[in-house]
Amino acid sequence: MKYAIVIPDGCADEPQEALGGKTPLQAAKLPNMDRAARMGVVGRSNNVPQPLTPASDVATLSLFGYDPLVVYTGRAPLETVAMGIALGPNDWAVRCNLVTVKDGKMHDFTAGHINNADGARLMATIHEKLGGPVPGGELEFHAGVQYRNILVYRAKEKPAPFAKETVTQPPHDIPEKPAVDFLPKGPGSDLLRDLMQKSLPLFADHPVNRERIARGDKPATQIWLWGQGRSPSVEPFAKVYGPQGAIVSAVDLVRGTGMLIGWNRVDSPGATGYLDTDYASKGRTGIAALKTHDLVCVHVEAPDEASHEGRADAKIEALEQIDKHIVGPLLDALPSFGDWRILVSPDHRTPIRTRAHAYGMVPFAIAGTGISPKGQTSYDEVVADASDLEFEQGWKLMRWFLGK
Ligand SMILES: [Zn+2]
Repeated sequence: MKYAIVIPDGCADEPQEALGGKTPLQAAKLPNMDRAARMGVVGRSNNVPQPLTPASDVATLSLFGYDPLVVYTGRAPLETVAMGIALGPNDWAVRCNLVTVKDGKMHDFTAGHINNADGARLMATIHEKLGGPVPGGELEFHAGVQYRNILVYRAKEKPAPFAKETVTQPPHDIPEKPAVDFLPKGPGSDLLRDLMQKSLPLFADHPVNRERIARGDKPATQIWLWGQGRSPSVEPFAKVYGPQGAIVSAVDLVRGTGMLIGWNRVDSPGATGYLDTDYASKGRTGIAALKTHDLVCVHVEAPDEASHEGRADAKIEALEQIDKHIVGPLLDALPSFGDWRILVSPDHRTPIRTRAHAYGMVPFAIAGTGISPKGQTSYDEVVADASDLEFEQGWKLMRWFLGK
């Protein structure tokens, strides 16, 4: 059996006034996702159990068949896997965003989708000035993709100052809110606040920011630290479920989560993790990877990014591209491998209204060998809400999908 999973990140949404009361999934023309719905079943699952925060880290673990209440330790340690950074048992990883705070408010959690070259130069300054020994340990700053960087706290003579009770704020969930209200709290927060504060003067007159402002780009005004955690321990997917998997994603978090459970990372040329990604390349890469793997997961970040920007039109465009260039070709190619199944599901909801991730059920469609149709005709939230197929614990969907 061959399995394909397509994740349109954050696609689940609410009815939009601008779309005549339809959700983006309803308003978009999605002939292939609807084909999967007609051939198979549409249901709903909850990938974000309370009290965890709704985001791709927790939700992706659920979608991949792992109970996040058991295995989740934080976002950053999942990303470090994809970045090739090894964590010792007492080390902590912390996400280090480059952000634009304007008039005291979180204006842009991506610093204008800062390019890798600019981001790396700013992070080099941060590592040079703020990295190195601290009492009992050592700080390392690692440049990642765009605005997504990592701070590693290496515990040396003393344990790291952080604990489960350390509270930090994902900056993508506080658009245009006062940054000062959302600073780190609890154990180790002094260190995190201090580093964030010290980045302000380092960036204020940085050559990279002077160039960005001259070009009309947003400057990165500071670093924002969050998503801390120690390395999680999980059983390999092949051991738990059987199939050998591959992950196609431009986002280190999703890649890293796949790699953590033992899936091979397969890169797709032209993948950006943004609205300008090469969708057709992702589809081709996914089909090619099916030749050498039992299961291939293709993740596309674009619908989530559209929601964070509050753009219904961009969200519809991203969904139609995924439908045409990824779901369609996969549905066409899968039967040539023999028995097959496909799962289309977002990780979590990202309503355009709030421009932030949200709790709640997400719609999924499953089609293929051994799946009997239920007379559903389209893949969207309304059909999913009316379905009698529900997984309150979203991580249990994987076993159902695999037919194990
Ligand atoms: Zn998001």
